[in-house]
Amino acid sequence: MTARPIGTPAVADTRPRADIEHEVWKAGVAAGLGDSRDLPLDAHLHTVRSPDANAMLEAYCVLAVERGIRELAITDHVDFDPTMPAYGFASFADRERDVREAAARWATRGLAIRFGVEVTYERRYEDEIRGWLHRHPHDYVIGSVHISEASPYKASRVAAFVSGRPLDEIVAPYFDEVIGAARSGLFDTLGHLDFVKRYLVPHVLPVQLAAAPELYEPVLAALVETGTALEVNASGLRQLPRETYPAAPIVERYRALGGRQVTIGSDAHRTEWFPYGLGEAYRLVAAAGYGTLAFRRGAERVQVPVQVRNPT
Ligand SMILES: [Zn+2]
Ligand SMILES: [Zn+2]
Repeated sequence: MTARPIGTPAVADTRPRADIEHEVWKAGVAAGLGDSRDLPLDAHLHTVRSPDANAMLEAYCVLAVERGIRELAITDHVDFDPTMPAYGFASFADRERDVREAAARWATRGLAIRFGVEVTYERRYEDEIRGWLHRHPHDYVIGSVHISEASPYKASRVAAFVSGRPLDEIVAPYFDEVIGAARSGLFDTLGHLDFVKRYLVPHVLPVQLAAAPELYEPVLAALVETGTALEVNASGLRQLPRETYPAAPIVERYRALGGRQVTIGSDAHRTEWFPYGLGEAYRLVAAAGYGTLAFRRGAERVQVPVQVRNPT
């Protein structure tokens, strides 16, 4: 797959991240990335039950039916670190009620809605997460590593952290946690595998990470060995990296290592971010040789056939 250029990367751009990313999103919309249609599944979506999202679940449902996207997983954030914004933000009962009621309303209109969650993984909370997931069953569970208050990738400290360090040491704190998430066996899917790319721009660019694929090998091996699915997360196409998390060569490498479980999510937090980039992610996954997506609807893992409309 040939990546489409989205906007013009400007390494020295010092505006707030949100301002730059708004331009990336607009450039992507102009390039057709908002036009995703006739797809079987978006397995990663946030609603007002996430502290960093403002989308109403109902708005996604209206758009999904309009666009021919036939199944959604609502995966609002749950955090276990008390300093993180989704810690105690929405109750399990409220989240589940929202999703189950919407699922009942929309089932007759050809839209399936599943009750998922995106858990922020940190090794130090693994036992707590395990117990909580056991007590709170979901249809589908994503485990993701995010940037906590103490993280070296916080905007206030990332420049100093990166300075003078080799690339492997720069990504190690992030990838070590990702490996922990995969090895925990707690999750159906590992969310946005190399999300750290977003926080490293402009100090380390995605092209530099792409030139060091060996840094991904232990992460991909952990996914393959545990059967944890690899998510191709389209949100990177509207964020500073301007490419999916992870990019196509990493998906291809995962397959070469024996990885057979992939899934796709837009990771929308706003109505207008759904289903931005989804079609691009489907094309990437199909080009990497996958005919199905790994998903779960509350019981055993299922495989959802990938159907890609030919780009016009
Ligand atoms: Zn996330
Ligand atoms: Zn998310």
